[in-house]
Amino acid sequence: DSDSRYDFVIIGGGTSGLVVANRLSEMRDVTVVVIEAGDSVLNNHNVSTTTGYGLSFGTAIDWAYQTEEQIYGGGSKQTMRAGKAIGGTSTINGMSYTRAQKVQIDAWERAGNKGWNWNNLFPYYLKSEQFQVPTADQAARGADYYKSYHGEQGPLKVGWPKAMTNSSMLPILDETFQQLGVSYNRDVNGGSMVGLTVHPDTLDREANVRHDAARAYFWPYENRSNLKIISNTYANRILWKDDADGDAVAIGVEVTGANGVETIYASKEVIVSAGSLKSPMILELSGIGNPDVLTKYDILPKVNISSVGENLQDQTNNGLSYEGREFWLGLPTFSVLPSAEQIYGDQLSEFSSKVMDNLGEYAKNVSISSKGAVQESNVLDALQMQYDLVFKSHVPFAEIVLIPIGHSFSSEYWPLLPFSRGSVHIKSSDPSQSPAINPSYFMFQPDLEAQVDVAQFIRKAFTTAPLNHLIGEEFSPGVEHVPEDASDTTWESWIKSHYRSNFHPVGTASMLPRDKGGVVGPDLKVYGTKNVRVVDASIVPFQICGHLTSTLYAVAERASDLIKRRYIF
Ligand code: FAD
Repeated sequence: DSDSRYDFVIIGGGTSGLVVANRLSEMRDVTVVVIEAGDSVLNNHNVSTTTGYGLSFGTAIDWAYQTEEQIYGGGSKQTMRAGKAIGGTSTINGMSYTRAQKVQIDAWERAGNKGWNWNNLFPYYLKSEQFQVPTADQAARGADYYKSYHGEQGPLKVGWPKAMTNSSMLPILDETFQQLGVSYNRDVNGGSMVGLTVHPDTLDREANVRHDAARAYFWPYENRSNLKIISNTYANRILWKDDADGDAVAIGVEVTGANGVETIYASKEVIVSAGSLKSPMILELSGIGNPDVLTKYDILPKVNISSVGENLQDQTNNGLSYEGREFWLGLPTFSVLPSAEQIYGDQLSEFSSKVMDNLGEYAKNVSISSKGAVQESNVLDALQMQYDLVFKSHVPFAEIVLIPIGHSFSSEYWPLLPFSRGSVHIKSSDPSQSPAINPSYFMFQPDLEAQVDVAQFIRKAFTTAPLNHLIGEEFSPGVEHVPEDASDTTWESWIKSHYRSNFHPVGTASMLPRDKGGVVGPDLKVYGTKNVRVVDASIVPFQICGHLTSTLYAVAERASDLIKRRYIF
């Protein structure tokens, strides 16, 4: 019936999917439907409150995927959180709004993705953004910006929380980190990220609520007659036209929802936006992927792309925390983004040459552990490029988040560009089963070493004046567990028993040339198909130094324009 026929079917009403749904439905003569497994969270306090980070973890709106045992990371399974809701992971995330380093977006184009560079993406960061100029009070507490870096007309509200940490904090942090060689960065959102900064968040300051993808891109537009969302419904697989010659033609999507199993027909395109841990699974269940994986579960291969689900890149997060000597109110948004030079000082060349000497070995191991699904030479190119970004272009090496709140002063950190590469694949032909997720955390020694070295840098910062005057005892790890003169082995064992996923998985359906291990091309179309695209964190080919959403909103905005260009004249 006509109820189940649309021009565009979008799988996943999350961060990216809702951008695409919004922009495509601006074309009045096309119909757009979004299939979303979760429900509305518009009235969910755990989502809307701006001070509620973590409240939705483990609830019904958290997929809480479990990884395989992390053999290089102490053997434990890790939980990878992701939002199951209209709005996706933007409804449960930390709201930090930081983009990327200019050179690392330019690297997308250098790797073969024509048109994907910083200068082309920048207007789309602005297009998505509705920047809220700081008040005088917020400015006094450290909220600062360059006007030319921000958009004011977009759907997504970006700004600082109503209640920020006391104004005495920033000068103390600044003076402390200056001594460690890290300068203040007034606005990290212009493509140059190194430094100490007070970053904005995705929130609506006046309403004092989180601004997620649903509040920004969906709810204000839900009455468009050509835009529909079908929630509490799982997309199982893409269905194909039988007799197509050449490229595969999608005709719709099989879903499971309130009425059982049904088909939603797409007359133009199917857009997969289920997130980087789910989109590759949907491709595999639809016959797009590595034949070795598919035939194991009796799935008829439709398009042979062995790299589907490979190239998974996430970061690892640890925390150090201290007793506070004061009582702090307000939501802190302090981040330190040091370069490798600033972390390593005169030991930089020792560290970098060790990495360089082993790049070939890492590439070989990634290829072997993928059972040949990714080519050693392609991995080597990617690792070499990453090496150059870190050690020659001096992109930020780590992010350190500083959290003075109540009577404690804690920090969380993650090295930004690990060399480890993992994968995500189906482990059943049943779409309701979770995939096998293996980020291969700490697969290579420099990743573990970086995790130690940044921890030591943070400890040094907390013992440097004037910051040291604000804090008392170290709660975690605590000198009784990791003494001041602890060996690397002691640090490493603390790290392995306390780290978590940083929840920034990317790369599992990478945008790259097909012979370089790509799954989608620069038009985000899946190779070997006529009308299937992926638009979400899966297509980001290399990890970035910013938190992901700002870049995903920009990518989805640009992708929407690329798609629309095909249908309007
Ligand atoms: P998602 O937003 O996850 O969207 C995927 C959607 O698809 C979901 O709604 C999901 O329910 C749906 N879906 C999945 N499978 C199916 C199916 N079979 N059928 C139908 N629907 C399906 N980024 C930042 O910028 N700042 C931060 O502070 C920050 N903090 C974070 C904290 C946490 C705890 C987490 C988990 C992430 C954080 N991130 C942060 C990362 C960022 O939020 C995500 O990378 C981003 O939201 C992912 O967007 P996406 O479009 O790729 O996928």
